[in-house]
Amino acid sequence: MKKVIVLGSLNMDLSINSDYMPKKGETINGYDFLINPGGKGGNQAVAAAKLGADTRMIANVGNDIFGQEILNKLKEYGVCTDDISISKFDSTGVAVIICCDHDNRIILGNGANHTLTFSMVKERLDAIAEEGDIFLTQLENDFQVVDASIRYAKKKGLYTILNPAPARVLEEDLYNYLDLIVVNQSECQLLTGIYPNDDESCIKGLQAFENRGAKAIITLGAHGSITQMEDTPVFVDSRKVETVDTTGAGDSYIGALCACLAKDMPVKEALEFSTKVAAITVTRRGAQVSIPYTEEVESYFK
Ligand code: ADP
Repeated sequence: MKKVIVLGSLNMDLSINSDYMPKKGETINGYDFLINPGGKGGNQAVAAAKLGADTRMIANVGNDIFGQEILNKLKEYGVCTDDISISKFDSTGVAVIICCDHDNRIILGNGANHTLTFSMVKERLDAIAEEGDIFLTQLENDFQVVDASIRYAKKKGLYTILNPAPARVLEEDLYNYLDLIVVNQSECQLLTGIYPNDDESCIKGLQAFENRGAKAIITLGAHGSITQMEDTPVFVDSRKVETVDTTGAGDSYIGALCACLAKDMPVKEALEFSTKVAAITVTRRGAQVSIPYTEEVESYFK
């Protein structure tokens, strides 16, 4: 089976629920405070591993208790952590999350995620990557490092996938090095100028990415996800579930998708499976902890 190699961020998520968003200068009471390992890279790697893929992470944490706990959890979920370095000089990344009204707002402290260098990534890729492996990354590490790593991974014959989050404009020629880009609605809007919310705008959005050189999948929150196969749209509606916390919805979807691609699953089937995984994830609080294992997916949607 192909490996899934995730270059990405590792954060400790500090999340709290509140009844409304505090205004400027205001202090309010929250409840159900939780400390959970997160970071888009970590979440996506955990999803791929929980769903049966041979998954390795290239990342950087601080030499502190958050870093240690993150590594322990990754191992527990089945992610190989041998390619994760521990920085002496930086703290582990953190994300402060306010959950309110079934949605969330997040402040990131990048810490060690931003001191991972391209030479560290290159060294690990040279040691572990084989042609055909899946290389997945996001934009929570230093952008120049991510950009150079995608180009290098593509040149090494890996199947490159980018989840451009948090969204920012990419170098135009970077699309030539991407096999697949997975975006949510706001990322699609920022990168293409098209907000996808109906058939026509979704297809325009997908086409805009294809014109630049990358196949795309657009996720539409509770309204499903869509891609194109030989100019024919492939749409999968979201599963109707009781939403508790949308943290990690997209991450679980993308990690699941990579696990499917590593097994050479057909695209429509892969979208359907990833949709089930993400639906279960939003029924629970937290990010990595809420992502289901394969057996749970099978029993939940019997
Ligand atoms: P992100 O979390 O990156 O913003 P989305 O909100 O588009 O990404 O969600 C990714 C996927 O997660 C969707 O395509 C869908 O399959 C699933 N999902 C998201 N929100 C819900 C929901 N409320 N109910 C069921 N599935 C959901």
